Amino acid sequence: MIPDIEHASQTEIKAFQVDKLKSLLEYLNTHSVFYKRLFETHQIDIKNINTLEDLATIPTSTKDDLQLYNDDFMCVPKNKIIDYVTTSGTLGEPVIFGLTDNDLERLAYNEAISFACAGIGKGDVIQLMTTMDRRFMAGLAYFLGARKLGAGIIRVGNGIPELQWDSILKFKPTYIIAVPSFLLKLIEYAKQHNIDPNTSGIKGAICIGEPLRHQDFSLNTLSQKIKQHWDIELFSTYASTEMNTAFTECTQQQGGHQHPELIITEILDDNNLPVAEGKAGELTITTLGLEGMPLLRFKTGDIVKAHHAPCDCGRNTTRLGPVIGRKKQMIKYKGTTLYPPAMQNIMNDFNEVESYIIELSFNEIGTDEILIKIATKKPSEDLLEKIKNHFRAKLRVLPKIEFSDRKEIRNLQFPKMSRKPIMVNDKRI
Ligand SMILES: [Zn+2]
Repeated sequence: MIPDIEHASQTEIKAFQVDKLKSLLEYLNTHSVFYKRLFETHQIDIKNINTLEDLATIPTSTKDDLQLYNDDFMCVPKNKIIDYVTTSGTLGEPVIFGLTDNDLERLAYNEAISFACAGIGKGDVIQLMTTMDRRFMAGLAYFLGARKLGAGIIRVGNGIPELQWDSILKFKPTYIIAVPSFLLKLIEYAKQHNIDPNTSGIKGAICIGEPLRHQDFSLNTLSQKIKQHWDIELFSTYASTEMNTAFTECTQQQGGHQHPELIITEILDDNNLPVAEGKAGELTITTLGLEGMPLLRFKTGDIVKAHHAPCDCGRNTTRLGPVIGRKKQMIKYKGTTLYPPAMQNIMNDFNEVESYIIELSFNEIGTDEILIKIATKKPSEDLLEKIKNHFRAKLRVLPKIEFSDRKEIRNLQFPKMSRKPIMVNDKRI
């Protein structure tokens, strides 16, 4: 299930996307209150948009816009909406996304070709270790995608290692979908209960939420740790509710492939200009083929690098590297710019650390302050010193680090209503 366009040349892909873009602009100009107003205010004649580069003449839209004008983004009457999902907004209230029947079909197609990209096919059985309800889009996408692909799916949901292993041993799935750090919990449970993960029949895991690789695509500590005990293929997938689209790694594992039928990507700097080739910037997307809430030049807030060289898998589509960080969570610390994932990579090097949370705040003089709270069975000055030295060596910065109670960290990580663990508590927002 690999769309022909993914093997086409980059010039063909561009032309293909321009066609799709033109239909989108017509659609928005007819159905979207928000974008119609934007075109009028900025005197944009959509007939003048004839290349992907011309997109740059249209202002970007942001998460704040989505929050402030949520209804104006909706392009269909309410009775066409089948599924309602929400995503956390920037100003408190969640942003609502409505998916029509066609949008659900598109979501299924998106996930089916993403699974196919990772080498999953008809006849495979996937165990889903993420939540499917709670107005969450991803779990539903995985279910619909598996169905479309003709693969089986076991909806176990998140957590509960015992039930996960029970299902793995009972139904013999070939792939799992999980947050990578949860795989460590599964390994731990297996060890305690004399289960050999390597004979379980699992070939690979589709991993969400946490990076698996460094920017050069080599494995980070977290994925090295997983593979040490459980020799499976690890595929990173990156998606968001706003994008309605996933970027999943192929068997070469060199970044998540863009699907040209579904999304246009731009990587922009702080002035909304395209970054130089190979540089990191904010992923800005234009969704294609959506009916309910299509987005045009939407700034995702994620800092990534794009890779344009043809992939060894035969696809010529753009690939996105691991997310470097959230733009809002950028930290200026003693002359260095950094993002929380770099600190998470360092914390993952310490087996002694059971759990941790990174707290970001402003100090008295208004500059960024980092405090990492860690829980461990054996707190010692020695361990603290080891962690500090590792920070100095790898990042050349030294955040405040203190021991904390495991319960307190758990409460911070799983506040009521949260659908995934919070690793970073940003008090600056
Ligand atoms: Zn590839």
